[in-house]
Amino acid sequence: MTLSGGCSNDSGDSLQDIQASGRLVVVTRNNPTTYYLDKSGPTGFEYVLASMLAAELKVELAMRPTYSLDDIFVQLQQQDVDLAAAGLTLTQSRQDNYPHSAVVYQQSPQVIYVAGKKRPRNIADLVGRDILVLAGSSHAQSLQGLQAEGMNTLQWREVEVADSMELLEMINTGQGELALVDSNEFEAQQSLYPRLNVGFNLDSEQDMVWFLPPHKDHKRLLATIDSFLQRLRDDGTLSSLKDKYFGQSTGVSRMGSHTFNRNMRQKLPDFRPLIEQVAHEYQMDWHLLAAAAYQESHWNPTATSPTGVRGMMMLTLPTARELGVDDRLDATQSLRGGARYLKQIKRRLPQDIYEPDRTFLALAAYNIGMGHLEDARVITERNGGDPHLWDDIMENLPLLQKAKYYQRARYGYARGQEAVTYVQNIRHYNNILRWQDLAENQPTPPVTANDYLPETVRNSNLSAL
Ligand code: GLU
Repeated sequence: MTLSGGCSNDSGDSLQDIQASGRLVVVTRNNPTTYYLDKSGPTGFEYVLASMLAAELKVELAMRPTYSLDDIFVQLQQQDVDLAAAGLTLTQSRQDNYPHSAVVYQQSPQVIYVAGKKRPRNIADLVGRDILVLAGSSHAQSLQGLQAEGMNTLQWREVEVADSMELLEMINTGQGELALVDSNEFEAQQSLYPRLNVGFNLDSEQDMVWFLPPHKDHKRLLATIDSFLQRLRDDGTLSSLKDKYFGQSTGVSRMGSHTFNRNMRQKLPDFRPLIEQVAHEYQMDWHLLAAAAYQESHWNPTATSPTGVRGMMMLTLPTARELGVDDRLDATQSLRGGARYLKQIKRRLPQDIYEPDRTFLALAAYNIGMGHLEDARVITERNGGDPHLWDDIMENLPLLQKAKYYQRARYGYARGQEAVTYVQNIRHYNNILRWQDLAENQPTPPVTANDYLPETVRNSNLSAL
């Protein structure tokens, strides 16, 4: 009998037990590709999927993050949890010991090295190198397999954490040479480590699954989970979740600026009077509101994301409710909600943060949540920066993606790099909008000699400018 698990009313049938307890207890890892907190609360690929399953079973969801892979399997063995959803690879030994779901997604294990060092190109190149893997991981098992097949001289170190980013950090700082990491995890964090590259794929695509506790009757639960996954695969939900959570966070590239300029000419005129009106109501600069709305939805009032944020200002349902927005797809309501929310955040920031930093910090909190912003300010101060200045906080926010920092932060892992990109993008769009506005409102130049030239010549001159 367990006190905390979801399996205390043991009937033998796991689905029945979950429904009787009213809770689905899921063990996971606090990691960008699995589960973490953002402005609207818990999120991440595994979290979103597990919460959809819990909703389907009409039970509550309880997520249990752990800090080691071995611990996940201990919890399954002890029947403390109903399910492990943690970016786990289906390996032979796991398959022998644990029941599992159908394939959730696939990815390839990759050998990562530091640019400028000798690139490993195949398995033979691994010999004699200092290789890091997560303790208890599928990668450790692969290396054991290679050793058993005769590569006796292969050596590696197993690091006792659950987040492969810790390994990337170690090789980035010279505390190891190569790291074995899942491709989706590498891709999600690659922008933080521009010097790290993929040497080669250690294996072809592997199946990623959910594991269940052994020694129980999972017939009904597995049938439910597998048909749930099949449905999400068929309707495209799984692939949009993968894009959202495993894709790279993007900054404003040259492409991005080009698209912005086009949208500014084609789409903005339709919304500008409304944005100006709402900005006026909330006494804010309309350029800033327009820039934020562009960053959120590209000025698309019906924008929807797979995680359920919607509308021009991409509000979550709970935030919208709190702000009195009953139709998130109504552009006016969404803009008003967003403006009000931003204002509320600004009011909650400490008094001694002054403009323009106050606005930048409020935008960061709008994206990532107050709690994580506070964590970043604490880290900034510890690292010798000034927690009142955006420039200093911006340097430290991405550290919330590194285990060394987020394990000690009050609100845990956060997509700090994305929040920085978010704020910087809005600043960039805001500037373009202001310049554009300035240019449009230039007073007409005084009459010059040019005005006396015949019209045809004048026009040709103008078009050459
Ligand atoms: N997928 C790995 C496993 O199942 C964990 C993540 C990683 O090591 O990159 O052990």
